[in-house]
Amino acid sequence: MLKTDTPLPKQLDKLIINANIATFSKDFGYQPNSDNHNEYGAITQAAIGIVDGKIVWIGDSKIAEKCSQENVEITDIQGQWITAGLIDCHTHLVYAGNRSNEFEARLKGASYTDIAQSGGGILSTVKSTRDADEGELYRQSEKRLRALISEGVTSIEIKSGYGLDLATEEKMLRVAKKLGEDYGITVKKTYLAAHALPPEYKDNTDAYIDKVCEWLPILHKKGLVDAVDGFIEAIAFNLAQITKVFDTATALGIPVKLHSEQLTDMGGSELVAKYKGLSSDHLEQLSEAAIKQMAKSDTVAVLLPGAFYTLRDETVPPIKLLRKHRVAMAVSTDCNPGTSPVTSLLLMMNMACTLFDLTPEEALAGVTRNSAKALGMGNKGQISVGMDADLLVWDIERPADLSYLVGLNPLQKVMINGQWQQR
Ligand SMILES: [Zn+2]
Repeated sequence: MLKTDTPLPKQLDKLIINANIATFSKDFGYQPNSDNHNEYGAITQAAIGIVDGKIVWIGDSKIAEKCSQENVEITDIQGQWITAGLIDCHTHLVYAGNRSNEFEARLKGASYTDIAQSGGGILSTVKSTRDADEGELYRQSEKRLRALISEGVTSIEIKSGYGLDLATEEKMLRVAKKLGEDYGITVKKTYLAAHALPPEYKDNTDAYIDKVCEWLPILHKKGLVDAVDGFIEAIAFNLAQITKVFDTATALGIPVKLHSEQLTDMGGSELVAKYKGLSSDHLEQLSEAAIKQMAKSDTVAVLLPGAFYTLRDETVPPIKLLRKHRVAMAVSTDCNPGTSPVTSLLLMMNMACTLFDLTPEEALAGVTRNSAKALGMGNKGQISVGMDADLLVWDIERPADLSYLVGLNPLQKVMINGQWQQR
């Protein structure tokens, strides 16, 4: 699969030699639905050349080892594996407070209704997030981001949705933006004011949705919105209400995505497909008819095994049907204080395999190639010429180790935009 005679470009910034690479690139035979598929798009004894933060050359390590260019920094990784930087494409990472008290109460026998009646649930996170000042919100969220980064996350999506008023939604998105700037990673900011109904709009859902649509252009103008998300569920919003939000987003040229078919099938994924949305997420109750629509609109199915696990759900998303109709599957943490207090994308890869029957190859594609697609990032998630040089070096024997190992972090080195990171 690796051409052995491609000559080196004239002047390189960096060369990584002696590498095994899970490229997930069609250039190296990654074609999961064809007969001559090369698993992981893997190449061995290879080298990567980098200029200005971009991959400009991939070839035989022996050619690279003879490189006599001055000022090129050569890193010999001695046969270790390289993957693209991990991309966590669905998180609610920015929030204040903690709900371990509810976790404990439930395990002592309290029901969800008991907890909701005593002020628990999502509205307790809304209250804590509204009460926290921006510095405090940053400090609490930063801990979670650091945990994800320690396992190789180089791009992340972060949603608003615990403010449910303009000032707090803006505060959340500003914190998300600042985290990306301070940590040098890519943060995609998603507006999710249509997450839950705030107490001040009790019994007046349509009036709240009007507000959600009114706030969107204000935040978009400030550069705080890369995508718009919503939650269609009996306990959240209905199809007509989310349609209104999507219409507002589309008029502003902002892509959409949705929390859908988690507990019930209310036609959410078909709606996202109609808007050619980036992704439809959760999907435990997804129908084949909706899958066909998602295939047509090239919408990614985002699987969230952490929420499935935490809720002890029993209905698995229809993986075989998603495969049959060739819908790209991504895997994410859904990091949130209620249903998925998870800050390990490696653990989610394992759970995607053990709970949802993904193959280790699908799980790794789900946190690289397909999660990039779910965020509309054509320049990340694969290792091929022209892609951003966001690269991870792993001390593993084969790529399946990343899904197989639980609790061991084999990450050795991280490169973001062509720069090796201090760890
Ligand atoms: Zn979510």
